[in-house]
Amino acid sequence: MNIIIVGQRHGKSKTISLGPTARWMLLVFLALLPFSMGAAGYFLTMMLADEGLLGPETAKAWESDLSQQRQDLEKIRAQTDEQLVGLTLRMAELQARLTRLDALGERLIDRASLDKGEFNFDESPAVGGPSSEMDVGSVYQAPDIVSVLDQLSDQIDNREQQLEVLDSLMGEQKIQSDSFIAGLPVQKGWMSSRYGMRTDPFTGRIAWHAGLDFAGKEGSPIVAVASGVVTWASDRYGYGLMVEINHGSGYKTRYAHCKKVDVKVGDVVRKNQVLAQMGSSGRSTGPHVHFEVYKNGRTVDPAAYIHRTLR
Ligand SMILES: [Zn+2]
Repeated sequence: MNIIIVGQRHGKSKTISLGPTARWMLLVFLALLPFSMGAAGYFLTMMLADEGLLGPETAKAWESDLSQQRQDLEKIRAQTDEQLVGLTLRMAELQARLTRLDALGERLIDRASLDKGEFNFDESPAVGGPSSEMDVGSVYQAPDIVSVLDQLSDQIDNREQQLEVLDSLMGEQKIQSDSFIAGLPVQKGWMSSRYGMRTDPFTGRIAWHAGLDFAGKEGSPIVAVASGVVTWASDRYGYGLMVEINHGSGYKTRYAHCKKVDVKVGDVVRKNQVLAQMGSSGRSTGPHVHFEVYKNGRTVDPAAYIHRTLR
């Protein structure tokens, strides 16, 4: 048998001669070729169909799978960001509360005249103990940060309450001695108007004067006549810039017509602490401090309290 191969370009031909054995093999091969190709095609089709990798929908399905995964990933990322912001805020809140506790602790040490070394709030507390190694083979589980924060927050709540009770108890003791109203609201100055009926400097009519006036140089210091808590530190009709202090036990004092106020509402002030600068704000004719003393909501003559220094 001869096989003639004809070249396409130059029309040249090539003749290959085959022996009888090769001839048979070629015939068998050619006869079986369609069957084997068909079988291979069939199996491949079945396999791909089994895996779900066939059909015109395949590419589309893959694409939608991918975009779904991408969306899921984005969602997870957004959730994580949100949680992180939440935790950060939580941490900031706890830090603020700890700072406040530290301040409270400092004040208590001051009040109780404790040895500073014993309760040093500037340093983290000394802790120790043997380290507990984890058992080999036990699976480490990260603590749930949120529950740890909750626990910490509860502990702080507890300490806060305890310290506040202590603070108020000790505060009462201190106030009983230091909130004793005595002395002048100015370091330099002279009494320019008494408590009681007087001719009003604005209307010329007889009117009630509910406090004492001390005249002095503008800007000179106005001081607290006893320890207490600032309950007013701004403008007030008629009074101009005014500071009010609550001394407990039903006592309050007011310092009016200030030029500038040096304290704010909520401040704890000590006896003789500078509160403001003398001025002429509000209903005033010149630099002076209008000083009032309240006992259970009604004004009393401050002169009686001022003179207590003379005892
Ligand atoms: Zn006055």
